[in-house]
Amino acid sequence: MPSETSDLVILYHRQPYEEVEQEDGRVILRENTSPNGIVPTLKSFFGRAEQGSWVAWKLADDLAKPEFERVVTIEDSFGSYRVSRLPLTAAQVKSFYHVTSKEAFWPILHSFKERYNYDPVDWPTFREVNWAFAEAAANEAAPGASVWVHDYNLWLAPGYIRQLRPDVKISFYHHTPFPAADMFNVLPWRREIVESLLSCDIVGFHIPRYVENFVAVVKSLLDVTIQRQEKVPEDWINEGTALNERTQVTEIAYEGRRIAVSASPVGVNVGYIEDQAASDETEERLTRIREEIGEGRLILSVGRTDYTKGGIEQLESFGRVLRDNPELRGKIRLMHVSVAANRNMTAYEEIQNELEQAAGRINGAYGSFHWQPISLISRAIPFTELVAYYRAADIAWITPLADGMNLVCKEFCAARADGDGVLVLSEFAGAAVDLAPAVMTNPFSHRSMDSAILQALNMEEEERRGRMAELRARVRRHDLTAWAEAQTALFRNAEAHHQSAA
Ligand code: UDP
Repeated sequence: MPSETSDLVILYHRQPYEEVEQEDGRVILRENTSPNGIVPTLKSFFGRAEQGSWVAWKLADDLAKPEFERVVTIEDSFGSYRVSRLPLTAAQVKSFYHVTSKEAFWPILHSFKERYNYDPVDWPTFREVNWAFAEAAANEAAPGASVWVHDYNLWLAPGYIRQLRPDVKISFYHHTPFPAADMFNVLPWRREIVESLLSCDIVGFHIPRYVENFVAVVKSLLDVTIQRQEKVPEDWINEGTALNERTQVTEIAYEGRRIAVSASPVGVNVGYIEDQAASDETEERLTRIREEIGEGRLILSVGRTDYTKGGIEQLESFGRVLRDNPELRGKIRLMHVSVAANRNMTAYEEIQNELEQAAGRINGAYGSFHWQPISLISRAIPFTELVAYYRAADIAWITPLADGMNLVCKEFCAARADGDGVLVLSEFAGAAVDLAPAVMTNPFSHRSMDSAILQALNMEEEERRGRMAELRARVRRHDLTAWAEAQTALFRNAEAHHQSAA
């Protein structure tokens, strides 16, 4: 019989399973099919806890409906855990998620001031939804429990949880970048957000730069002291690139409390990807893809349709390379996968239109009946299929303008057990700091973009293999398990602090 409270409570806005409607209208809860990604990783923490709970929202058309089950118990391969579901109306979801989080926070987090949209934000609704998450967490948490809050759409939850439950340990992890102070401070709610984050025991980020940016924001708004600063480990140094840092603050103090600030880059499940990459199904797909490509070479780009991903800038670069290097025409192909995650949002529709126009223009200018330079793919490719393209590609061309981490580039390296393949990576992806052996590029510079892809196309096999071996070693060292271990260690330290303070 599971107990009514949990020693680990995870707050993540999505539910930890897929809801699938059956033909008879019944809804079944199905485990996410892929063990790759953040949801299964978070769920794996339940294996280490006595009892775990997950708090998420669920669309409820009519809040008074009696059949809405607030708390369900799930049994899956991760064990048995409770899921507390907050019933939100479509209007609340739109306001808290699509407007405040995506139109106001997202552009600021990724340093796109000009896309910041303040006017439609309804701050009371944002507070209300965060309060509901905090209340649910407070109900689920056992005395002294660990409460783990994920991502910026729950920025206010830690402050509310602290009010309700001074006894629990709170950790907050940012899956996005964290911007510089003069960017973050565009948000009029900056002080409220930062004060909430400072009620945590741990505030986590992918890389040292985001920690440093956060500390600068905190210093600009509140009287905090820096308790500890450390050297950044050699593995996370990519000298001379945009997101590089040599030292990093690891602890600050505010109003008599100590807060750990940490950098640990999310990685991928290397074993799973290698298994997928080696499967018979992948081999068959690979043979077909190779037949299709023939003598030509394949450049692969995979990402979400989002202005932060720099898709247009990449297509433009490809166009310039074909214009300036006629000998490459007919010999190279770009498979540009750009998948819309937020369908009903106008900003993303515009980008989709621009991508189609750019690809159409370049195909029209340089293509022939037999050869189309760009294949623009707008539908999501299942991961098991994507792996075959990772294996088939000569180059992975990953050039976001801003990206918290970027997992596609790590998946590409993990899939390349053959040891070949070139990764061209934007220095503005968090992954740039732990993937120094990639060919680095600055997506804001035409010259840098064009020369990096040409360098990759001209690279000799020996150099390709040397870089890939080093990349694969790093992807393996900083895999998902390493990230999970780092998070567990942070919680353990917070526990020790709580005990010594008590
Ligand atoms: N992905 C996929 N099919 C696609 C495109 C992307 O399965 O057609 C997956 C990809 O394998 C990766 C994730 O989507 O695991 C994208 O993660 P990433 O960190 O690169 O970008 P995000 O979308 O989180 O910004």
